[in-house]
Amino acid sequence: MSENKKKVVVRMAPSPTGYFHIGSVRTALFNFLFARQNEGTFIFRSEDTNDARSKKEYEDNILESLKWLGLSYDMFMKQSERTEVYVSYLKKMIENGSAYISKDEAATATRKGEEIEQRSEVIRLRNPNKKIIFEDLVRGTIEFDTTESGDFVIAKSLTEPLYHLAVVVDDHETGATHIIRGEDILSSTPRQILIQEAIGATRPIYAHIPLILAPDRSKLSKRYGATSLVEYQKQGYLPEAILNYMALLGWNPGTEKEIFTLPELIEAFSIEKVQKGGAIFDEKKLRWVNKEHIKLQKEKIIEIIKEKISNKYPEQTIDVRILELIFERIEVLTDIDRLIEDGELDYFFNEPALTKEKIAWKTSTPEEAKKHLEHVLTIIGDSDAVMKYAEEAGKGNVLWPLRYALSGKEKSPDPFTLLSILGPDVAKERIEKAITIL
Ligand code: GLU
Repeated sequence: MSENKKKVVVRMAPSPTGYFHIGSVRTALFNFLFARQNEGTFIFRSEDTNDARSKKEYEDNILESLKWLGLSYDMFMKQSERTEVYVSYLKKMIENGSAYISKDEAATATRKGEEIEQRSEVIRLRNPNKKIIFEDLVRGTIEFDTTESGDFVIAKSLTEPLYHLAVVVDDHETGATHIIRGEDILSSTPRQILIQEAIGATRPIYAHIPLILAPDRSKLSKRYGATSLVEYQKQGYLPEAILNYMALLGWNPGTEKEIFTLPELIEAFSIEKVQKGGAIFDEKKLRWVNKEHIKLQKEKIIEIIKEKISNKYPEQTIDVRILELIFERIEVLTDIDRLIEDGELDYFFNEPALTKEKIAWKTSTPEEAKKHLEHVLTIIGDSDAVMKYAEEAGKGNVLWPLRYALSGKEKSPDPFTLLSILGPDVAKERIEKAITIL
């Protein structure tokens, strides 16, 4: 960084009114990447001034999630603890005439989703009613006429600042150089610029990142699956995969590379390359990215699988091939539970229950299935011979009853894999049992 270049300061400023939304995860990530690649400062600011909707529980959830994701911040602040700062700015603004106490009764809402109750007195900004033009790093030149905002309310009283004022004061006080945030806040920007000008703050550089959309291009909502990070955590997505996928929502490296670790993202990310159009959330793609990260963390994941099997089958020794088999079949970590806890692979550890119909499902008669299984018994130690026999007698006729006798499942790995993992003794017992049922 050159001497005279201003040190980058960015912030993420969630309102803790719900569990960490995946859109906010992406905002946090883009700010983090931008801070780290510029050796700048990343501030976490809890915008918890909305008493009615802000909850400590949500703030904790957001902080824990950032930790889980590995997005570290350099400074922590809470708006609810900064009332005096806002009071001092409001006083100055009233003194210099850029704001005034208004006796107008009908105060209207200025904060997202928050109705300001009717008051006899509020504090308003004296709107110079001018055109605001700024260069957005993502959206290019933006022009707004602020006339229609009128003399908007910036505080309910001296000690009750509203959202826009708090945001602008904090950004100014912390020296935020870049404001990277969701496009949903774009319409608030001109009002915030007016407040900046009123308090004599330097205008930061803006980057409004595109909305995350559902597959039908509507606003992402619960209808299309989970919208909060906890739900993805619960489903067994890896933090690395979530970050990787989120980075690709609105940004692409301009190369074929799609799988990135966090250090690689810090290296490759570019805010200027973020696209303007909405980014479509594709859960299938997220699953694929997750699988790729599972592959990158094979050793760790195999350990998790091993532990889960040992918990379910404490007495058994675990064949590494079973670990591999599970590893191959999972896309998210809860797939491991599905395969182990729900007993889908139970046949590796316990004798399966068999039915006559299922054993003979692919042969014309139960007798025929019986005949094939009896023959297989005589050559059980020799997979090549079993395969050769199956090719002569018809694969389905031989391999289905064999595979089903070994697993008791309609779906399982092929009979040769089962034979090699179970070993000839167990295999023999199970085939004999199938023969008695037939
Ligand atoms: N508190 C706002 C929100 O959670 C973000 C404000 C900002 O980034 O300027 O949507």
